Amino acid sequence: MRAAVYAGSFDPITNGHIDILVRCSSMFDKIVVAVVHNVHKKCTFTLEERTEHIRESLSGLDNVEIVSYSGLITDLMRERGIGTIIRGLRSITDFEYESQLCFFNKHLLPQSDTIFIMADYRYSYVSSTGVKEAAILGGDISELVPDVVARGLAAKHEEMKARGLI
Ligand code: ADP
Repeated sequence: MRAAVYAGSFDPITNGHIDILVRCSSMFDKIVVAVVHNVHKKCTFTLEERTEHIRESLSGLDNVEIVSYSGLITDLMRERGIGTIIRGLRSITDFEYESQLCFFNKHLLPQSDTIFIMADYRYSYVSSTGVKEAAILGGDISELVPDVVARGLAAKHEEMKARGLI
């Protein structure tokens, strides 16, 4: 079975991530979306919320499994017998970071390989951080994220207003 992992914090998932997943779902029998659970990193959305956002946004893709992990992605891959990592590339800046990560993962799991998929040009400037910043300040990000995320971000915007933070 051709399987691959697509890992990240997905805080939150954006249409850029979804585009990569949809395009890759026809190239692999199975894609494991691995959501990082890092107790040291402060996320805007909880692991449960991030997982639910992904589940709802990908309900049409039946060869995608969503899991969480807290250690090395290569340990998860070893446990599951998966040899391929999917990463999205938006820019040369991504490339510098991603190539280092790719070499590191190769060191940790020599039989693994990373496949890079270029972001769709419509989402090449979209980042989880960018949509959060814009949405929390009241910007319209509805074309950049799935509806469930837009609703979650609108709720954060209201919460910040109610607390007098914006
Ligand atoms: P991190 O792992 O740094 O928390 P993400 O969860 O955003 O970051 O990243 C997971 C993967 O998604 C990475 O390969 C990243 O390059 C990719 N990615 C992020 N945003 C986009 C986008 N707009 N289009 C395509 N790929 C993206």
